[in-house]
Amino acid sequence: MSIAENLQKIHQRIENACLKSGRNPKDVKLLMATKTVSAENIKIALACDENLIGENKVQELKEKYDALKSIPHRTHFIGHLQSNKIKEVIKYADCIQSIDRISLVKELHKTLEKQNKTMDILLQVNTSFEQSKFGFPPHEVINFAKEVSNYSTLKIKGLMTIGLFSSEEAKVRRCFKILREIRDEIRDLNINTISMEELSMGMSNDLETAIEEGSTMVRVGTDIFGKRIHPDSYYWDETMKLEPKK
Ligand SMILES: *Cc1c(COP(=O)(O)O)cnc(C)c1O
Repeated sequence: MSIAENLQKIHQRIENACLKSGRNPKDVKLLMATKTVSAENIKIALACDENLIGENKVQELKEKYDALKSIPHRTHFIGHLQSNKIKEVIKYADCIQSIDRISLVKELHKTLEKQNKTMDILLQVNTSFEQSKFGFPPHEVINFAKEVSNYSTLKIKGLMTIGLFSSEEAKVRRCFKILREIRDEIRDLNINTISMEELSMGMSNDLETAIEEGSTMVRVGTDIFGKRIHPDSYYWDETMKLEPKK
């Protein structure tokens, strides 16, 4: 299957899930998760009328930037962000979806303020309560959002989560439901510096469930570009080292 055919299939799946839940397919964006994908293949995908990519590693973001900069598109950072990489990320990304701790927010604000810049962000929530996943515990998100709303350089646009990896759909669905409920609660606070328009949730394996629970942005890698060689945990943690080859 070609990238173009895979994309067609993904859009069909998005449409079917929308139909099933009475939603408009226009309300669900497709972010192409492009970790490990070459600039060449990203170009092929962007040429299929796509315009949104997400990278997990600052190094990859940087490496592909020049090759892609002449093509109109937006780039979100979706990986675990180390504070010492903030300067680079704000140079190359349009939005950071993986805001997961207050120390990061403080550093980010300081750097943006110096450069007279602002940044769109999503707050990452650990809805699966797995140790291995980054993100705020659900019960802390609301207070955190209130605190972040005081930082004028940071524009909260919504929430992001990675669903539980499980074949039990009910458990996966619960993660997405938690995110939607937090979104609704924050919305009800009516804080004018916080927008809750974006619910970034759903990947290759669970995008239908996420859409049924209100996702406005699915992040798809494998089902567009094929399998990756390393397990996902490697891409989520910048500090993670691979086992040396024996
Ligand atoms: C890799 C990745 C995705 C896409 O996952 P697939 O299962 O390949 O579709 C989505 N979100 C994040 C944060 C990722 O790291």
